[in-house]
Amino acid sequence: MQKIKDIYITCEKGLELVAPIAKDAIQEIMNCFPAFKEAYPITILGNWKSEHSRTARNGNIILEPYESTDWYIGRAAQQSLSDERASGIKIKDGIIKVDGQISIDALYNDLSNDPYAKKIPQIQILLTKHDLYGTQRNGRLLNFCLGVSEENAFSVISTARFIKPNGRFDQEGFKTVVMHEFGHAIGLTRRGRKNTYEQLGSHCADENCIMQQQMNGDFSEITRRRLIFKAHGLPPICPDCITEGEKFFRNHLAKALSRNADFRNR
Ligand SMILES: [Zn+2]
Ligand SMILES: [Zn+2]
Repeated sequence: MQKIKDIYITCEKGLELVAPIAKDAIQEIMNCFPAFKEAYPITILGNWKSEHSRTARNGNIILEPYESTDWYIGRAAQQSLSDERASGIKIKDGIIKVDGQISIDALYNDLSNDPYAKKIPQIQILLTKHDLYGTQRNGRLLNFCLGVSEENAFSVISTARFIKPNGRFDQEGFKTVVMHEFGHAIGLTRRGRKNTYEQLGSHCADENCIMQQQMNGDFSEITRRRLIFKAHGLPPICPDCITEGEKFFRNHLAKALSRNADFRNR
């Protein structure tokens, strides 16, 4: 099958070992759609930057808009300063360190306008080590969030809440949330689908499916069930989610084919 879209994984510096874990998680979801796996190759771009990523002015290095992962993170940190969710930003050895959280709304808005995504069909998975906060529909700020996604465009996921008090990384919990966010990016719980409910967006009502929402942000019970299912050779998403995903992929395959046909007919 021809390629429909690339899946690109980008990350902040320091998450180089986490990016392959995210790739495994996405691969596990794509394995639920064997007919479309090859059409969505997954590539780790890491701490991405274009050749236009920086300019020096008056001795200061300025990150060019949209030209690097660091620019997105820096913008989200700036927003956090004005929302008083962060008290300072430092850049040391090229690594952005924020005292506090960063704004998921800023990331969402900037990624929605990504000029590269308009030129090169892609779903971008951006990994940040900073804790995220965002605005609820009623305008109130959430204490924290684990991630956000836009259908057929991108997911953002934070690793911050998966570092245990002993410093160890909760790899399986993180994978569950990567799968969940990627599931939103491929439209698994589209509003109005059967067996869904509204809670911070549309979510799956199947109690063993990773596409349910956890109000307190605790995915440990869902992760426990996911791993039991996996041990029995069962997928992390329920039959309703698989049916919806197949619709998503068939729909985007049809669009890709008609684009090619238009191109040939020109
Ligand atoms: Zn969700
Ligand atoms: Zn489901």
